Amino acid sequence: MKLVFASNNLNKIKEIQSILNGSIQLLSLEDIGCHEEIPETANTIEGNAILKADYITQKYGYDCFADDTGLEVAALNGEPGVYSARYAGEQKNADDNMNKLLTALKDKSDRSAQFKTVIALNLNGQQHLFTGLAKGGITMDKAGNHGFGYDPIFQPETYKETFAELSSEIKNKISHRAKATQQLIDFLNSTK
Ligand code: IMP
Repeated sequence: MKLVFASNNLNKIKEIQSILNGSIQLLSLEDIGCHEEIPETANTIEGNAILKADYITQKYGYDCFADDTGLEVAALNGEPGVYSARYAGEQKNADDNMNKLLTALKDKSDRSAQFKTVIALNLNGQQHLFTGLAKGGITMDKAGNHGFGYDPIFQPETYKETFAELSSEIKNKISHRAKATQQLIDFLNSTK
């Protein structure tokens, strides 16, 4: 069975391929000749994952899965959420985004937050959604230099360190993306 992962991240594709049942061959966007930008214009994380998966299935005719992630901050009614990448502007700069978030939380006592990854899978004419959450809080200051995005200001629950202070091995065990991906893999490995 051939399945497209609507992503240009070859590392992610290889990692998932290695844990999949041998009967599933993962294809990248490049493998199917998709070089255009896929629209991400929905106003929810789920909506964007679905838009991306549907775009490939409808335009290229492949079964496909796509992911979308955002950081939801309780005191900001779930913001930046689906707008996480461009919270501080279209330059999509991680430092600008973190500074804006730290400023927005300056006077808030509730600093709880969660990362959410949704994977939308189109398989045999049906759509399945898998959600992974990493719960925690936003720190007062940035710490650590691993990872990317909001990692220096996100402290996962039960840890004293931020995501950016933890090794990638630990983050990849407890992250939102890891949890959603594991659900996808368990589902795919249970189908023949
Ligand atoms: P994407 O949907 O995976 O492209 O993620 C959207 C945005 O959410 C990224 O540009 C980051 O700002 C943020 N983000 C997603 N995953 C992580 C993470 O694991 N750590 C920190 N920030 C993340």
